[in-house]
Amino acid sequence: MTATRIDGKAFAAKLRERVGASAAAFAEAAGRKPGLAVVLVGEDPASNVYVRSKGKATVAANMESFEHRLPADTSEADLLALVDQLNNDDAVDGILVQLPLPAHLDEQSIIASISPDKDVDGFHVINAGRLSVGQSGFVPCTPLGCMMLLADRLGDLSGLEAVVIGRSNIVGKPMAQLLLDANATVTIAHSRTKDLAGVVKRADIVVAAVGRPEMIGKDWLKDGATVIDVGINRLPPEPGADKGRLVGDVAFDEASEVAAAITPVPGGVGPMTIAVLLRNTLVAAHRNAGVAVPEGL
Ligand code: NDP
Repeated sequence: MTATRIDGKAFAAKLRERVGASAAAFAEAAGRKPGLAVVLVGEDPASNVYVRSKGKATVAANMESFEHRLPADTSEADLLALVDQLNNDDAVDGILVQLPLPAHLDEQSIIASISPDKDVDGFHVINAGRLSVGQSGFVPCTPLGCMMLLADRLGDLSGLEAVVIGRSNIVGKPMAQLLLDANATVTIAHSRTKDLAGVVKRADIVVAAVGRPEMIGKDWLKDGATVIDVGINRLPPEPGADKGRLVGDVAFDEASEVAAAITPVPGGVGPMTIAVLLRNTLVAAHRNAGVAVPEGL
C-alpha cells in the first residue's frame, strides 16, 4: 500500500479563503472587521516569526490585526493591564498571548485573565471545561485542525479505534476529547505507556503529538491506518548545511508503506493551526456581535 498524502497546506488555504470571504461579509454587515490581538513578550526568534506570520495571515483574511510587542522584562501587572484593556476593546474579538512567556511571568494566570469569549487559542480553563462537557466554546487550533483533516478524510469516525500519543493541554488532551465527541474509541498514550508500539498497532487513527523525530515506524502501524503527525522536529544539519531537515514524529516514508493516509511534515498539520486561529477569530466576532456563526467553517 502507498498511503495518500493528506495535504494540510491545500486544505488550510481553502479554509482561509472561506474565512476571508466570510470576514468580508461580516465587515459589510457589522461596519467593522473582525479583530485579532496578538501579544508578544520578549524577543524569542521563533515566536517573532509566528507572530509576524499570524499578523500577515490575519490581514490577508480581511481581518484587523493588532500587534502588541512588549519588552522581555515586562511585569505581570503591566501584561495583565494590557489583557484587561484588550478584553474591554470592542474592536478586538480574539486575544492570543504568544507562548512561551519569559520565566518570570506565570502563563496560567495570564491565560486565566483573557476573557473566555475572546480566548481564540482555547487555552482558558473555561474553554477546556466547555470542551470537556460538550458546550460550545473555543477549541485549541492544532487539534481542531487535525479533526477537520480526519473528518474530511474519513467522514464518520464512529467506533474507530483512535490512539493519541501525547497528553499536553494544547494538543493531546483536547485532541482526545474531540475524537471522543466524534464517537471514536480513544486511548491517550504518553511517556509512561507500556508497550507503546502494541497500543499504536490497534489504531485505525493515530495522532502523534510527542516531539520525538521519526519515533513511529511502520512496524507500529496497523495496515490501512490514518496517521496525523503533529510533531515538528528539526534534525541536526547535514554536513555543509546550516539547518537540519524538519521531520515529524512519524517516519513518513516507511509509514507510507503501511498507512492508508498520512500527513507530511511540513505541509500537514502545521498550516492548519493558523487557518483555524483565523476561523476561531471569525467565530468570536460573530458571537461577540450576537449574530449567527456561518455554517461550513
Ligand atoms: P509536550 O512536550 O507538551 O507534550 C509531549 C507529550 O509527548 C507528553 O504528553 C509526553 O508524555 C509525550 N511523550 C514524550 N516522550 C514520549 C515517548 N517516548 N513516548 C510516548 N510519549 C512521549 O508537546 P506538545 O503537545 O506541545 O507538542 C507535541 C509536538 O507537536 C511537538 O513536536 C510540537 O513542536 C508539535 N506541535 C505542532 C504544532 C503544529 O502547529 N503543527 C502545534 C503544537 C505543537 P508525558 O506527559 O508523560 O511527559
